[in-house]
Amino acid sequence: MKSHYRVVVIGGGVVGASVIYHLSKLGWKDVCLLERSVLSAGSSWHAAGGIHALNADPNMSALQAYTIDLLPKVEKESGQDIGLHMTGGLTMAGTPERWEWLQSAYRVYQSIGIEDCRLVTPEEAGQLNPIMSTEGLLGGMWADREGYLDTTGTVKAYAAAARLRGAEYHENTKVESLVQTKEGWEVVTQKGTVTCEHVVNAAGLWAKQVGRMAGVELPVSPLKHHYLISDNIPAIEKLDFEVPMTVDLEGFTYLRQDQKGVLLGIYEVNYEHWAMDGAPWDYGMELFQEQVDRIENEITLGFERYPCLQEVGVKTWVNGAFTFSPDGNPLMGPVPGKPGYWCACAVMAGFLQGGGVGKSLAEWMIEGEPEADVYGMDVARYGKFAENKEYIRQTTGQFYSRRFVMTYPNEQLPAGRPLKMSPAHDGMTAAGCKWGVSWDLEVPLYFAKKGFEEIPSLRRSNAFDIVQRECLMVRDGVGLLDISGFSRFEVTGQNAEQWLNKVFASKLPKHGKSALAPMLSPTGRLKGDLSIFNWGDGTWWIMGSYYLRAWHMRWFLDQIAEGVGIRDLGEDYCGFSLAGPKSREVISQLSEGSVEQLPFMGCGNFDIGLVRTKVGRLSVAGELGYEINCKMGDHIALRQILLKNGAKFGIHEYGFNALLSMRLEKSFGIWSAEFTQGYTPGMTGMDRWIDWEKGDFIGRKGSHETKNGEGPDQKLVTLQIDTSNADASGFEPIWVKGKRVGFVTSGGYGHRVKKSLAMGLVNTELSHVGQEFEVHVVGEEYKARVIPTSPYDPKGKLMRS
Ligand SMILES: Cc1cc2nc3c(=O)[nH]c(=O)nc-3n(C[C@H](O)[C@H](O)[C@H](O)COP(=O)(O)OP(=O)(O)OC[C@H]3O[C@@H](n4cnc5c(N)ncnc54)[C@H](O)[C@@H]3O)c2cc1C
Repeated sequence: MKSHYRVVVIGGGVVGASVIYHLSKLGWKDVCLLERSVLSAGSSWHAAGGIHALNADPNMSALQAYTIDLLPKVEKESGQDIGLHMTGGLTMAGTPERWEWLQSAYRVYQSIGIEDCRLVTPEEAGQLNPIMSTEGLLGGMWADREGYLDTTGTVKAYAAAARLRGAEYHENTKVESLVQTKEGWEVVTQKGTVTCEHVVNAAGLWAKQVGRMAGVELPVSPLKHHYLISDNIPAIEKLDFEVPMTVDLEGFTYLRQDQKGVLLGIYEVNYEHWAMDGAPWDYGMELFQEQVDRIENEITLGFERYPCLQEVGVKTWVNGAFTFSPDGNPLMGPVPGKPGYWCACAVMAGFLQGGGVGKSLAEWMIEGEPEADVYGMDVARYGKFAENKEYIRQTTGQFYSRRFVMTYPNEQLPAGRPLKMSPAHDGMTAAGCKWGVSWDLEVPLYFAKKGFEEIPSLRRSNAFDIVQRECLMVRDGVGLLDISGFSRFEVTGQNAEQWLNKVFASKLPKHGKSALAPMLSPTGRLKGDLSIFNWGDGTWWIMGSYYLRAWHMRWFLDQIAEGVGIRDLGEDYCGFSLAGPKSREVISQLSEGSVEQLPFMGCGNFDIGLVRTKVGRLSVAGELGYEINCKMGDHIALRQILLKNGAKFGIHEYGFNALLSMRLEKSFGIWSAEFTQGYTPGMTGMDRWIDWEKGDFIGRKGSHETKNGEGPDQKLVTLQIDTSNADASGFEPIWVKGKRVGFVTSGGYGHRVKKSLAMGLVNTELSHVGQEFEVHVVGEEYKARVIPTSPYDPKGKLMRS
């Protein structure tokens, strides 16, 4: 072991080994992995070794597909056998809703380029896996690229291939503590101290403690997990092929062949956490006693699905532990506020995801940003609230027990809620508000009559009419929306303007004005779709998506300069938005007419009744509108004042479901759908906000495609789809005569234009108005066409009125 490395990776499981492999492959050789015991001594040695590309999150699917393609290459490179068995795999549905979901998911996989899967009937599935009873099954999905591998062999292969490329790994070298220095980190091990510029927490079951060594409280916890290995099964002994990896979603089990028997794994509904503060340091390569009582129901379902199991014994029980984050995705990337401290942990399926995590992390460290959109794995997608142990217990438990349970897009899950509530929450609940959640905050979805319950559905739900009513009332009168769920940052200081000009690609608004403001990464891809407010007193605000608060703040602080102060106002400010033709009448009476003078996109400080507010004249709904920001303590009063004065204008409250419908009618994109860090301004139309004349800004050099007029391959369009009872939601494939030419970024019903709408990225040559397509919505094919942007009020006269 040397005394200094560029990177020290803590943890020799599949994830840490993949990280050093990818770092060395991308050119960083001065890299060392330190392992407390021997390679794969954490979760990795006793994993079931199952691999499959499919995942409910399309971005995760893409990374899993990368890992599967990579594995044979790593085997070849290292010379280490990884025992890869590509048996193919089945995912089976046993309820009509699940079957509908599977058909819809099949189309999503096509969108992201996973072509080697197909839908199968129960009969076909029975032939593909002859030991499976097809009773009660409605259909399934077959995927070629599924199977299993030897887990320890795989970890060794990654590590050996990394060593061949110049990286080091050292076993029996426990990291005891970490000390942050000016230059990086001192890594204190039982064999002495090494220094490094970057340290990576890939400590798996011990990730919590290795986080705490740096003062970081990671939202991660281990949970226990069972599988059994059966004795030899006569029916399998007779086969001349291996049974495929099979997931029985309604049975909560997965199965693969293991020699001449099978391995049956169980996602326990009655889950159990273990060592929430991290595994004990003396935890060896141990297993827990099986807890058959806890998994009796799932075992019974498994033995019914595979009746041959009733005739043979159980050779081995494995009850081990592995780690989960609140949403089940990895925690990856640079930890906010800890320069040089990186995470690669909470990887729930390390053998499927480890390759993708290693690749993205290595790109991020070496090149400054990963190639793929990895927001869904980014450690900065959580805020401080997720450090709470009870929050972690509830959310990780919910994820685990629902691993094979489908979640509908309109379904609200209870774990970790309610947590943060805007001050007017109780009053709004009394008015019928149904709540969703954004990050830690309860946000209004819509207002319903007492006793109304929304039925989860992939199609239009029973809340359709309610949302329609809210949209039409905004169109015809005035609506009130709680906008506590927007983020607000304050930028001050003598160099604030200069700093904003560097960080944002757009022209800054003049005094008393606001402006849309794209933010770019150094390579010219999108980093934010924000709005900037110039309050005219040397103070600027940046507003955007609430759930990106920590993610944006990390970026802002990475760029921070002398003479600039930035503050997240998310705990201090909240507000309401007024939208609709009568909103001016409501507000002008309350402000002695002063707000009435505010031009479109204007902003300023105003008294609204008794409340001091900061108002911007803009509206995501595409109507005349005002965003009224107030101090948390004034939120209840502001609501009461606006409702009271608005009564004579027929004011009504509405929620984000209506807002999302209305923004689609205006072709206003949103983050995580139309805008992601995987897309460029040219693709998404964001380039029209870029100010090429203003000198240097982050991303300018990278934006060649837009600047030089070499158009992007795909462009964002607005689509009308001829559906009747369902709308697109995102990632549905777009076709021309059987050729995939794009995908939907988001969709929904436009109640004011009475059309099923979507936005999507399509091949540039097909992005003109009138181009006809076919689109799959909930698995069924419909006609669709490109329509002019902003189908509601195309010229924007209403917003400007
Ligand atoms: C029963 C079971 C079945 C599973 N089945 C599958 C499956 O089919 N497919 C799949 O993809 N995944 C499966 N998994 C999950 C898989 O095991 C994990 O996702 C994976 O092992 C995580 O790898 P890791 O490298 O993040 O963590 P770990 O394997 O836990 O590795 C962390 C390493 O860090 C070391 N370490 C910790 N602290 C220190 C320190 N201070 N100093 C030095 N070293 C340290 C540990 O000794 C350990 O070796 C299963 C898990 C279980 C329990």
